[in-house]
Amino acid sequence: MWTANPYCVDCGKLTDFPNGFELDHEIPVEDGGSEDDSNLRVRCVWWEHGKKCGCHEAKTQREKRAAGR
Ligand SMILES: [Zn+2]
Repeated sequence: MWTANPYCVDCGKLTDFPNGFELDHEIPVEDGGSEDDSNLRVRCVWWEHGKKCGCHEAKTQREKRAAGR
């Protein structure tokens, strides 16, 4: 995945291997998304003051809010 396209799908940033990105499920597995490559996206992550930042974390937070969790 990362070798095919190392750019974050949200912000287009070139991510660092192996700590600058996470593979994210476009459709969460708990919502019926597949583990297939077609459902996986590279999204950037980084840490600031012990807190996770980046597009993957932002999406996770959006999904939590949407789910009311
Ligand atoms: Zn990003």
